[in-house]
Amino acid sequence: MTLYTIKKKSPGHNGYQEVVRIILICLREGCNNEFKVKPSLLKTAKYCSRHCKGLHRKMVEFGIKQQLPEAKDIIWTKRLAYVIGIIATDGTLRKNRKTIKIGLKDRRTIKFIRKVIKEEVIGREYAIYIDKKKIGKKTFLLHTYQFTNHLFYDFCICIGLIPNKSLILKDLLIPTEFFPYFLLGVIDGDGNYNTLVRESKQGVIKHYHIRIVSGSEDFLIWLNKEVSANFGVKEGSIVKDVKGRKNPKFTLFWSNKKAVKTILDSIYVDDYIGMASKKKKILILLK
Ligand SMILES: [Zn+2]
Repeated sequence: MTLYTIKKKSPGHNGYQEVVRIILICLREGCNNEFKVKPSLLKTAKYCSRHCKGLHRKMVEFGIKQQLPEAKDIIWTKRLAYVIGIIATDGTLRKNRKTIKIGLKDRRTIKFIRKVIKEEVIGREYAIYIDKKKIGKKTFLLHTYQFTNHLFYDFCICIGLIPNKSLILKDLLIPTEFFPYFLLGVIDGDGNYNTLVRESKQGVIKHYHIRIVSGSEDFLIWLNKEVSANFGVKEGSIVKDVKGRKNPKFTLFWSNKKAVKTILDSIYVDDYIGMASKKKKILILLK
């Protein structure tokens, strides 16, 4: 506890008025921010913000433990670049709260994301929720994970992610060094691989595809250019699909064998962090 006096311009006078404030440390585990209060609030003030107060209450209610200190800075890493790629495709930045929500079918990947966010951002972990979803006749399980963190949310805004973004996403600021890991996240989020075998008079022809789907054409135009610049491959193509939809769906794809192989070789490197189900498909393509 530190006594602290500040000089405040007093209204209606030319002079300054001395105001006493006390510096306290936020009691929420993992925060430790300093904040100033009036002496009269000394006994009741415990948290630096309403956010911390709410978070503390939730942590107690759900028995969440602060396992590591909260990050004071967001630093680019391979794993975080992968998570950003997933957020750009399967994530949502909530509009009025600094909350990020990610929904994925693959349980292993959502658990991996939770681990990265714990170790590199918030220092604690929340439950993963499972919902049964139905698209057409297919039912599948959707795993969702959400967390609130001002620093990481602002970081996402700074690199170009937008709240409720799927249709208006544009260029993102991704450091070259981490672009391959970001792209891997994008493909694990909204992309797929596929080989098509066709028999013709010339014999069996194999087609190779990497596809990335998005509601935003601008995002795919940027991604296409970045992939060419980073990996030195021919640009892919973008097709628009409007059939039976309120908003058009765009698909960026590469079908040139050399481009597909180069992209795959560039993103599946050393410590592999991609989705297991997609990895099986890729092994066939990489042969
Ligand atoms: Zn706090």
